[in-house]
Amino acid sequence: MPADLRALLPGDDGYADETRTYNLRADVRPGVVIAAASAGDVQAAVRLAAARNAPIAAMATGHAVQPVPIGPDAVLVTTRAMRGVTVDAEARTAWIEAGVLWGQAVAEITKFGLAPLNGASPSVGAIGFVLAGGHSPTLGRAHGYAADHVHRIQVVTADGELRTVTAANDPELFFGLRGGKGNFGIVTAVEIALFPVTTLYGGSLIFPAASARTVLNAYRAWTETVPETMSSSAALLRLPDLPFLPEPLRGRQVVSIRLSCTDPAPAGAALIEPLRAAAAPLMDLVREMPYADCASIHSDPLDPAPVQERGGLLRELTAETVDALIAIAEAPAAAPDLVEIRHLGGAFAREPLVPNAISYRDAAFTIFMATIGAPDPAQTHAAQSAAMELLRPWCTGYTLLSFMADVDAVEQGYRPEVLRRLVALKRRVAPANLFRLNHNIRPDA
Ligand SMILES: Cc1cc2nc3c(=O)[nH]c(=O)nc-3n(C[C@H](O)[C@H](O)[C@H](O)COP(=O)(O)OP(=O)(O)OC[C@H]3O[C@@H](n4cnc5c(N)ncnc54)[C@H](O)[C@@H]3O)c2cc1C
Repeated sequence: MPADLRALLPGDDGYADETRTYNLRADVRPGVVIAAASAGDVQAAVRLAAARNAPIAAMATGHAVQPVPIGPDAVLVTTRAMRGVTVDAEARTAWIEAGVLWGQAVAEITKFGLAPLNGASPSVGAIGFVLAGGHSPTLGRAHGYAADHVHRIQVVTADGELRTVTAANDPELFFGLRGGKGNFGIVTAVEIALFPVTTLYGGSLIFPAASARTVLNAYRAWTETVPETMSSSAALLRLPDLPFLPEPLRGRQVVSIRLSCTDPAPAGAALIEPLRAAAAPLMDLVREMPYADCASIHSDPLDPAPVQERGGLLRELTAETVDALIAIAEAPAAAPDLVEIRHLGGAFAREPLVPNAISYRDAAFTIFMATIGAPDPAQTHAAQSAAMELLRPWCTGYTLLSFMADVDAVEQGYRPEVLRRLVALKRRVAPANLFRLNHNIRPDA
């Protein structure tokens, strides 16, 4: 054991802080927390868990609620202290340690005139995002999933060894780690590709809910015409009546079209003209912006809250799908606060040069809904299930790993042949299923 290893037991000073989660619904009360400061600390934690056959989980932020609790029999490795970001501007790569949040990574990488395939929220962990596939709402349609652009992964496997995994030295583990989330080891760092993007033409166009049908149908037709340089999403939002929001939006139901275009501003403006003309917006926040400001496009809430989520993938978006989305957002009881679709296609639809576990290249849109601070979790669960049932005619039956909820089964994440490959990999690298507090790929499946 490293002499300075920070191991915390329930009741110890610092235990509550290390186990705090962004999503307050997450059930995280492990028997011991290792607050890792280095890859060596992660190795010590894995060896401790393996010796006791205790399940072990990794957590950077606690954004994701797992289908099983991280309970008193478990070891938890927190990675908050592992915050290194090293950019190689010439090679256009960044080496990112396990505790780095996208906000920090974007701030450091953009100083070099480069951009990563980051997520919408600056408070999401870069590693959890990349291992889940990682849908970038800014550059995704141009370049694909974040997991498509990983060069090297440093990981502690179930035997406690620290390995640097590449496509050349362990193609199967490299395949599974990129999309297999936390199933094959605890990742201590990854090397990702960066892209020469310094500015975006982007932001959100926010319309009143009364225009939702017109706007969403205009969006539907528009997405069929746009180039891969344009990434976008549409969200039906129930906004709180709180002072942090601009006055015209407080306490309102709105439809927000979020846009991110890497073309120069005049070309971007021409592309979005049909959306600006669709209806009178409450606010038009689309502008040329430095890439470093990209989190403002979604303006995701940063404060911890209990959030209940559900996701899926749509094979198509029809006028009837739009009607269903509106019916879900306007349901008289327990309607989600967010009903979001993200436009796929473009590079999302292409297999990368080095294939990975991402199984849903053919979907046209993601669907994601979230209910924040739900007073009655059972009612929320029922309402979200009814909503997914309403959308069933257009759903592929799969879910983006990034947007899998605690109620989803791992089979929803992978095509059967990919899941069989991942099961075989699990048998090889973690036969005792040490990493099982997740959407679990079982070695005995
Ligand atoms: C507000 C918000 C916005 C989001 N926006 C996007 C988006 O734009 N695109 C997108 O694709 N997703 C998005 N997500 C989903 C997010 O990417 C996933 O929930 C992701 O897994 C969160 O990673 P984390 O490390 O922050 O969370 P954590 O809860 O800390 O980790 C989640 C899981 O990731 C795995 N994991 C984390 N660290 C490690 C590690 N070091 N080694 C092995 N496994 C690890 C574990 O299985 C862990 O349980 C968003 C989520 C939220 C709440």
